[in-house]
Amino acid sequence: MTAGTTDEQFALQVNGLGKEYRSRLRGNNWALRDCTFGLPSGKVIALVGANGAGKTTLLSILAGLLAPTEGIVRLGGSPGEPNRISFVAQDKPLYRHFSVRDMLKVGQRLNRVWDDERAKRWLRRFDIPLDRPCGRLSGGQQAHVAFAVAVGSRPSVLLLDEPLSNLDPLARRDVTQELLGEVADTGMTVLLSTHVVAELGGVADHLLLLSRGTLLVDNDADDLLTEHLYYVGPSATEPPCDGEIIKASHSKNQSSFLVRVGPADQPASVAAPWTTRPVSLEDLVIAYLESDRANAAVAA
Ligand code: ATP
Repeated sequence: MTAGTTDEQFALQVNGLGKEYRSRLRGNNWALRDCTFGLPSGKVIALVGANGAGKTTLLSILAGLLAPTEGIVRLGGSPGEPNRISFVAQDKPLYRHFSVRDMLKVGQRLNRVWDDERAKRWLRRFDIPLDRPCGRLSGGQQAHVAFAVAVGSRPSVLLLDEPLSNLDPLARRDVTQELLGEVADTGMTVLLSTHVVAELGGVADHLLLLSRGTLLVDNDADDLLTEHLYYVGPSATEPPCDGEIIKASHSKNQSSFLVRVGPADQPASVAAPWTTRPVSLEDLVIAYLESDRANAAVAA
């Protein structure tokens, strides 16, 4: 990775990134292809995609744990002080026999920059006992230890692979709020992969949607919400507007279209009996995933 050469508004940029897994037994397989994007600084970026889309592969490359087959990753920051990356992997590896307190010491030893109070504050917030061996914590409590070590290292870029998967609904909400607080306090950039798309609203500033290794969506979340509209009206083959149809559904007497209308194309009003309604980020993600699955089935 090179440092200090990114556009200042990006914490990290990738260009033409690709990864081919090679195996004599199972054959070769491109998990990631031609990915080019930037992570906007100080924002929360959601990385979504179906199982096997390439999310973990991408995060592992960004974390420096996996070498790309092609393309480059550029870290922002200054040449003397490049952005620091912290990665919380899906399986949240901890030393089972180490107490939580010992895990913090490991974090302190392994990181050039360490904020013990910040790490302990996270653990206090979620009532995690410092003296308990990590192996005797629940899955959710182990996740909190991994988060505490990650925020203690004061990263400028925090990569989280499905951080919410072991957590109950209240803990998911609380972790999300804590992360947003960390972003506001420190200005760090968070890239998180998730399947919990219902909880992205109000959290994600930016959306990356991966489909079979390629990037389908790379947009500001607010822009996406204003550029898409649902049109509901009588049974029809076309919506009453220009734009790309992302999803169409029809019942006997009614049609509904999710349309990507460029900002300039947005009609001030729509003629009755058609009506419009806004979309949520969840609607959008699901519609893009469905549309992509349908396209894949046609291509196969
Ligand atoms: P999930 O949502 O299920 O966690 P993902 O989006 O994180 O999936 P990856 O784990 O990055 O997807 O996998 C992308 C593709 O690469 C898949 O087809 C997967 O089978 C393949 N793959 C992942 N790791 C390896 C590996 N070590 N060797 C060979 N192929 C792999």
